[in-house]
Amino acid sequence: MSTFTYSFDLNCKKSMAPIAILFDEASGDIEIATNARIPSGAFHVGSIGEKDVVAFKAKTVNGKSLRALQGELDEATLNAVNRARQLMNLKRRAGYCGCCGTPTKLADKAAAMRCPRCGELYFPRVDPAIIVGVRRGASLLLAHNSDFTPQLYGLIAGFVEGGESIEAAVIREVREEVGIAVKNVRYFGSQFWPFPNSLMIGCFADYDDGELRCDGVEITDAGFFRRDSLPTTPGPGSVARRIIDAWLAEDSGVRLG
Ligand SMILES: [Zn+2]
Repeated sequence: MSTFTYSFDLNCKKSMAPIAILFDEASGDIEIATNARIPSGAFHVGSIGEKDVVAFKAKTVNGKSLRALQGELDEATLNAVNRARQLMNLKRRAGYCGCCGTPTKLADKAAAMRCPRCGELYFPRVDPAIIVGVRRGASLLLAHNSDFTPQLYGLIAGFVEGGESIEAAVIREVREEVGIAVKNVRYFGSQFWPFPNSLMIGCFADYDDGELRCDGVEITDAGFFRRDSLPTTPGPGSVARRIIDAWLAEDSGVRLG
């Protein structure tokens, strides 16, 4: 299967794109087109196999929302769409230098906007966030977030603060949201989550100390659940699902994370 290769020279020199990602100017809906004419202001996003991928805004797009596409596209195309969307947002958010106010321009040989006056570079925004499966014996910590649909239970998650390590973020988030201490934080896997710019860093950790106590605002219920008594958990396509599935798939005594 073809993979997506990033481009760091975003200037589009060709007139036709084998693969084009069109963004609706009004709704932000996305259409994947083939052999499309490239307008000025398009980004060269990268390539899938031998095919160049180009992204641009258009007035009439027969598209779908990014959330709808999440469950439909193959991994390479989804990576291209995520990258394209980040570059579109970069151009919108970093059109002027935050240091000196000068209009920025596309940087040479970097996926960034550059200030021609002071040289400041602006890269696509990535917000690292942790998501953690906390084990206690044969049980896994699951929590109901007030933003979730009723009955849905997921993993503890939250943004990494400036200056903080991944391990420290896991320990802090779990303590803030459900009041317990965890230890032995270890990496599981990651996923870019484009709502809007998160890099979800999946981990496992072990229960250490304390009683569950929900913050009542973000987390309204939480508990340690055994494999045979699980509530409704997140569907496919998320790193949360992969963490829970890895835990579910373990034979007794074989720890995958
Ligand atoms: Zn500047």
